[in-house]
Amino acid sequence: MRIVLLGPPGAGKGTQAKLLSEQYGIPMIVAGDILRERAKVDEGIKRYVESGRLVPDEVITGIIEKRLEEDDTREGFILDGFPRSLEQARALQEYLESRGQKLDHVVFIDIPEELLVKRLSSRRICENCGAIYNLITNPPAEDERCDICGGRLYQREDDKEEVVRKRLEVYKKETEPLVSFYEELSVLRKIPGNGAVEEVYARIVDVIESHGN
Ligand code: AMP
Repeated sequence: MRIVLLGPPGAGKGTQAKLLSEQYGIPMIVAGDILRERAKVDEGIKRYVESGRLVPDEVITGIIEKRLEEDDTREGFILDGFPRSLEQARALQEYLESRGQKLDHVVFIDIPEELLVKRLSSRRICENCGAIYNLITNPPAEDERCDICGGRLYQREDDKEEVVRKRLEVYKKETEPLVSFYEELSVLRKIPGNGAVEEVYARIVDVIESHGN
């Protein structure tokens, strides 16, 4: 099953991608994680990521296509954070078509903008295992420590308020048009992103199962 998770920053894509990946036994491919890893050794990429601007389409498209070549994607994948522009979406379509494949579901997690800034600024991540917390809706049992591995929690540089505003602006301009792009391809599954993690997850599974997989 080939799934794309679409939605603004802070919609909960990363959290849901992890749950889906576990349930369906297919890998999640997280564009932002790959780019944050590259940013450690590539100043150019670092500047894009830390300022909330999109890295050039050809750069990220090349990275993702290479990742999709790997064996573990044979039964499918969950893409989180890619595509993020019409050009990327078209490149992905072409790539899949050339392999006789297509997307099964583009899950659009829809959420009111005013919730996003709040969610993003209270997000914390484990520096050791990458688990995602939210100080308001999903806090760790012990302050600043990961429940799973005890690692230290940190705030992403681009989750600070000024950068969050820029990311939302980029989302509106570059990524929102993908909603109609995928609607026209009849693969768009829109679900409300408000509520608890488990509630949102149940909506996603429902919509996937009801469209067949
Ligand atoms: P995310 O973790 O998905 O919020 O992504 C963090 C940052 O990585 C974004 O603000 C962009 O700078 C960069 N990024 C992630 N995915 C893409 C993409 N598909 N195209 C271009 N830049 C991306």
